[in-house]
Amino acid sequence: MNVVKTIEAVRTMRWQNPSATWGLVPTMGYLHEGHISLVRQARAENDFVAATIYVNPTQFAPTEDLSSYPRDLTRDLALLEEAGADLVFTPNDALMYPHGFQSYVTVDEVTAVLEGASRPTHFRGVTTIVAKLFNIVQPTRAYFGQKDFQQTVVIRRMIADLNINLQMIVCPTVREADGLALSSRNTYLTPPQREAATVLSRALKHGLTLLNAGERSGDVLHQEMTAIITAESLAQLDYLSVAHPHTLAELAQVEDMALLSMAVFVGKTRLIDNMPWPSLTAVYGEA
Ligand code: AMP
Repeated sequence: MNVVKTIEAVRTMRWQNPSATWGLVPTMGYLHEGHISLVRQARAENDFVAATIYVNPTQFAPTEDLSSYPRDLTRDLALLEEAGADLVFTPNDALMYPHGFQSYVTVDEVTAVLEGASRPTHFRGVTTIVAKLFNIVQPTRAYFGQKDFQQTVVIRRMIADLNINLQMIVCPTVREADGLALSSRNTYLTPPQREAATVLSRALKHGLTLLNAGERSGDVLHQEMTAIITAESLAQLDYLSVAHPHTLAELAQVEDMALLSMAVFVGKTRLIDNMPWPSLTAVYGEA
């Protein structure tokens, strides 16, 4: 496994064999089984796998956790090596945002809602860094987690609108045994908060149960899921949504598919989670 810090080193390895296929897994590090599941899928589907580790400052608002975001490069590299990555790109801020940097990628409508409403500058940072990583690595396929569902909608839109030549693969959310979605930010939780954090997946599962039983009212789904969050004293709801998984428009009435999603503060830690209905495959099709 080659660990490199320069764009030239990435390109040299990437183009050693121009006909080889490459899978790209972009991450912010502090890796867990969710990230590693993406690396494994990339490993299974490509000749070579590149992972990137970069805590991208432009996707954090000034009030957010950029400086405290957890980091452990040594452990990350060991996990990537074990999962079969061939190349790890670990750029620094001076390389990604050199003096004079002033070009950004923006996607309009699907970034205005949900995470974008709560974090107005977030997606511009995400699309800009992901477009840069796509240009640097030029992968055959790029792997993203369902955990950040809106991010997959936004990046899918960017790929289509800007004619980016790669296939995007969305991999299912990896969870703890009690349902909590794995996240690097779970490390911020105290033991009582960690217990309370199961409230997100409990509320979402209840929503799926209602949908499977025939409930179609967006309002009813909203109320029922909100009641579960409100009953948890350590949790504070940021937003809760019953939306169409492609447009992210709120649904008064669910028809063939829905995305149940939410952001919840547990203490100071902001957690997100989602569950698509009837399934991830139904919503996105086979990769
Ligand atoms: P991050 O390091 O948080 O930027 O995440 C890097 C990639 O890993 C993103 O595509 C995430 O959606 C994905 N990811 C994060 N958590 C999970 C999880 N629990 N299951 C599956 N993928 C995940």
